[in-house]
Amino acid sequence: MKKIVVLGAGLSGLASAALLAQAGHQVTVLEQGDWIGGKSRRLNLAGQIVDTGPSLVTFPGVWQKFLDTYKSLGGQVPSAPEFIRLPEVGRYFFQGQEIDIPIPPGHPWYEPWRRFAEEHEPLSDAITKLLTTGPTDTASLPALAQLLRVYRSGLTTSSYLAGLKWMPQGLKDLIAIHTLNAGVAPDQTLPIYASMTAIMAKDGITVPKGGVNELPRLMAKLAEAAGADIRLNTRATRLSKGKVETEDESFEADAIVSSLDAAVTNQLLTGRQAAAATSRSCSGVAIYAALSEPLPEGTVTHSVVMPDQPKRLYAALKQNRAPEQTMTFVNYYLPGGIYDNELPTVAVLLTAPADGAKTDLTTPWVRAEVDRVSKLIGLNKPIDSYFAEHQVLNADYFGSYGHPLGALYGEKNPMWQSGPLHSPGYRSPLRPWLYRVGASVHPGGGIPAVIGGAMNSIAPLLRL
Ligand SMILES: Cc1cc2nc3c(=O)[nH]c(=O)nc-3n(C[C@H](O)[C@H](O)[C@H](O)COP(=O)(O)OP(=O)(O)OC[C@H]3O[C@@H](n4cnc5c(N)ncnc54)[C@H](O)[C@@H]3O)c2cc1C
Repeated sequence: MKKIVVLGAGLSGLASAALLAQAGHQVTVLEQGDWIGGKSRRLNLAGQIVDTGPSLVTFPGVWQKFLDTYKSLGGQVPSAPEFIRLPEVGRYFFQGQEIDIPIPPGHPWYEPWRRFAEEHEPLSDAITKLLTTGPTDTASLPALAQLLRVYRSGLTTSSYLAGLKWMPQGLKDLIAIHTLNAGVAPDQTLPIYASMTAIMAKDGITVPKGGVNELPRLMAKLAEAAGADIRLNTRATRLSKGKVETEDESFEADAIVSSLDAAVTNQLLTGRQAAAATSRSCSGVAIYAALSEPLPEGTVTHSVVMPDQPKRLYAALKQNRAPEQTMTFVNYYLPGGIYDNELPTVAVLLTAPADGAKTDLTTPWVRAEVDRVSKLIGLNKPIDSYFAEHQVLNADYFGSYGHPLGALYGEKNPMWQSGPLHSPGYRSPLRPWLYRVGASVHPGGGIPAVIGGAMNSIAPLLRL
């Protein structure tokens, strides 16, 4: 049995804590905030439950593997939340068109979409395998070979898509924009992100009944049932071999698991705050609201409003400046669906530069985008005029517990390190007692990547 201190009670820290405690270690989780879930946080707006941060769960096989691993270590999972599949992957608004994914027969892009989807849908299991297998594990080789056969010589999402001469440019743009879910432009990351729309169309996108925050809540329960001690309002201030210090206390540790942003982890290790790299992943302006009246009938659950010129958005984000137009998700939940609320709720999620700014609805570019989005999704007045109560989470908020300028996936790696060869890695021979998970290593990919990555990183500690 080892004494293990886990830093951060987000999805990756809690996944680590639950498995390590169930494996018999003495686990203490230190969390600076007063809530469970990190980027997944629950708000109460006008008496309604609204979950912030991640809203959609992809690659559900990774979550299942977490539960199966917990059970295989002897743990009991009383009841896991049911996943509700959304009726559509999304309605995309792009250059005057409204396009549903999967693209229906009769649409001019139907044939190229079908051709693309047939090739990429089968990659879902291979990607799940890669997400749950360590980078040096030979068990991942067949999955890797399957991906390479599809991507051939395409090194980035853009270069792979550029090689598909039969695909209309508009469809390429729509597929490519999903690299922003990893915080970066399509020419800055591996072609694996090109497969996302096709895989989401086949597997569906799902939301746990009750909201995504049900997942970290369950993980915290599993961790505590296994004996972990979760301490909220406890900020780690210094890490060294054998010890984690906070403002008031010092914790002995045979091993430390950090889920804190890589720059924050490095600062706690060295005591020095490095200047922020200019190359960083994007941030967000996330507007959450309970509505006083429903949006017009026909408004879909998940809308994606694209910029007219995606290249201009990518250029602005690379320079960490506000874009003229951005990519925005609108998630709209009627009462009684995902949430047992009495009022409808909405999340308007604008992709934003990681500039640490305290933006709100009066910030000119945000105001202009909220108005553009409102018109495009079919409202005859700005969406905020439907709000009963709202809250805006911006780069300043994300920077308060993550990358200092609010970069959601931290500083950007060189392209070839944006996948399994990420830097920093899970472990370093210089500090064999430190296990990095989630935001501390991962360049993007969301819930499946941080839960899968946590399981990969701590695997040696589960072999007692
Ligand atoms: C607006 C938004 C929308 C998103 N949408 C999706 C989506 O639809 N699907 C998806 O899969 N992913 C999505 N993501 C990404 C997903 O939320 C993240 O990848 C994931 O939640 C990261 O989890 P984590 O545990 O690695 O890090 P975090 O959640 O950042 O957890 C780190 C924890 O460490 C704590 N901490 C920081 N410093 C200290 C310290 N010094 N001492 C102690 N504790 C500390 C923080 O308070 C935090 O709780 C979204 C993210 C955002 C912000």
